[in-house]
Amino acid sequence: RCAFVAVIGAPNAGKSTLVNAMVGAKVSIVTHKVQTTRARVRGVAIHDETQLVFIDTPGIFSPRRRLDRAMVAAAWDALEGADVILLMVDAPAYRAGKGGAGADAASRRAVEDTDAIVAGLKERGAKAVLVLNKIDRIARGELLALIDAFNAHGVFTDVFLISATTGDGILDLKAFLAKRA
Ligand code: GDP
Ligand code: MG
Repeated sequence: RCAFVAVIGAPNAGKSTLVNAMVGAKVSIVTHKVQTTRARVRGVAIHDETQLVFIDTPGIFSPRRRLDRAMVAAAWDALEGADVILLMVDAPAYRAGKGGAGADAASRRAVEDTDAIVAGLKERGAKAVLVLNKIDRIARGELLALIDAFNAHGVFTDVFLISATTGDGILDLKAFLAKRA
C-alpha cells in the first residue's frame, strides 16, 4: 500500500524538517504510482507496511515571483496526483504576522504566502490537512485561535499540532497518513 503525500506551505514552515523526521533511515523503494513531472519525491517513510511518499511541488507558494500562469497552474496540477495534501504552517510566525505589533517582515510574508495557498485550495475546491508546526514556540490559547481561523475557510478536513523538531505529534500524523493509503 502506498500514499502520495504532498507537503506544501510557505518557506520556513518546517516541511523539510517534518519529512526528514518521518523518513528516518534512508530507503529506496520503487512505487507503482507514477510521478508527475512537476512533483519531486522528498522521501519515503514506512508505517505498518504502508509507504508514505512525500512529494514536493515547487512554485506553489511563490505568487510574488511573477511565475507565468502556466507554471503556477502546473504546480497546482501536481497536487492532483496526491492522496493527501498537507498544508504546513509555522504557527508562531503566522500568529505574529497576523498580530500587528511585533510582526516583522518574515512573519508577514509567512501570512501572505500561507493565505495565498489557502485561497488557491479554496478556488480549486481542494481539501487539505492542516499541520500547525512549531507548537514548542506558541501558547496554547494562541494555537486554538489559529485553529478556529483556519477552520473557518472550510478547506481543512483535519488539523494536527506538531513540532517537527521535538517530534511532538509526528507519530499521530504518520499513523493518520498511513490510514489514507
Ligand atoms: P521548509 O522551508 O518548510 O522546508 O522549512 P525547514 O524544514 O527548512 O525549517 C525551517 C526552520 O524552522 C529550520 O531552522 C528548522 O529547524 C525550524 N523548525 C522546523 N520545525 C520546527 C519546530 O517544530 N519548532 C521549531 N522551534 N523550529 C522548527
Ligand atoms: Mg525545505
